[in-house]
Amino acid sequence: MTTVTAYAATSADAPLTRTTITRRDVGPHDVAFDIHFAGICHSDIHTVRGEWGQANYPVVPGHEIAGIVTEIGSQVTKFTVGDRVGIGCFVDSCRECDECRAGNEQYCTGSGMVGTYNAVDRDGQPTQGGYSGAIVVDENYVLRIPDAIALDKAAPLLCAGITTYSPLRHWNAGPGKKVAVIGLGGLGHLGVKIAAAMGAEVTVLSQSLKKMEDGLRLGATAYHATSDRDTFKQLRGTFDLIINTVSANLDLGDYLKLLKVDGTLVELGMPEHPMSVPAPALIGGRRSIAGSMIGGIAETQEMLDFCAEHDVTPEIEIIAPDYINEAYERVVASDVRYRFVIDTAGLR
Ligand code: NAP
Ligand code: ZN
Ligand code: ZN
Repeated sequence: MTTVTAYAATSADAPLTRTTITRRDVGPHDVAFDIHFAGICHSDIHTVRGEWGQANYPVVPGHEIAGIVTEIGSQVTKFTVGDRVGIGCFVDSCRECDECRAGNEQYCTGSGMVGTYNAVDRDGQPTQGGYSGAIVVDENYVLRIPDAIALDKAAPLLCAGITTYSPLRHWNAGPGKKVAVIGLGGLGHLGVKIAAAMGAEVTVLSQSLKKMEDGLRLGATAYHATSDRDTFKQLRGTFDLIINTVSANLDLGDYLKLLKVDGTLVELGMPEHPMSVPAPALIGGRRSIAGSMIGGIAETQEMLDFCAEHDVTPEIEIIAPDYINEAYERVVASDVRYRFVIDTAGLR
């Protein structure tokens, strides 16, 4: 076992504090890497604040992790020391169920995916995430970061990037398709960039017009404020696909009516409370509401390669670990442009 420095939450209402955790010895199939950067996802905040139920404290969050391999196990074939690598939201799954075999490890129906933090690993130990100096992970759950993507910019792709890429691919965003992205935060801004790179016509639906210039620069061709009721009248029946990245509850009925006949609204945000859907908004247009969770390992690698090829990277604000608590407050206040990324140098 090795000891590394980390930032952990010890309860739902205490600030994250500096601590130490242990990482397991490198097993035959493991890759150990120094963490260089870790993104702050809104899911980290939902988890540590108990918004998805009681967490298993202490929790070291962070599932957007990028770094450089320092050691490999005796049977590792995919990586070598010095490789630029990352991990996203899970570090294991059953590997045997239909979903795992199909590359949908995130939907594992066997033992379920093992989350990068706040979960229990195969060895019975709690998993701890990327707000730390180093990590040890089975090579099958490690991604290769293309040379064209800097490590700090790669980190947010490992959750925010794949979470938007996967539904955009699944619901065929591309030329001739009108896509709306609700919420211009971490997920949303990557959703805009990726959908535009896929060739879709992209509209941002944000609370206000404050970030309009950014939205258009990122690749959207239209930008509307959802605080303006006229938006909902003007855009009725417009979109083939809407992806909702908002972390809070919305009146989904309003948004469903913005879909064309046969359009789909994909829920990506995971607000604390359930949301209700008025039946007429679905029925009166044969519309669908769907959900999507991150993406599998092969698809995550495909996304990284796509982003390298199309020059898609997140807009980030790099912070030191002692700024994490302030960054959390700013994320909750929608004051993030557009992902905080922790430089973990001080934790190694
Ligand atoms: P984020 O950076 O905080 O972005 C969320 C955006 O939602 C904000 O920037 C804001 O955009 C909008 N928003 C926030 N509060 C709002 C409110 N009360 N009313 C209307 N709009 C509001 O968060 P994120 O990291 O992108 O994550 C977004 C959500 O996705 C979270 O719930 C997270 O847990 C979830 N998530 C899901 C998956 C998955 O696999 N499905 C993966 C990662 C994250 P504007 O300022 O533009 O309005
Ligand atoms: Zn996330
Ligand atoms: Zn499985």
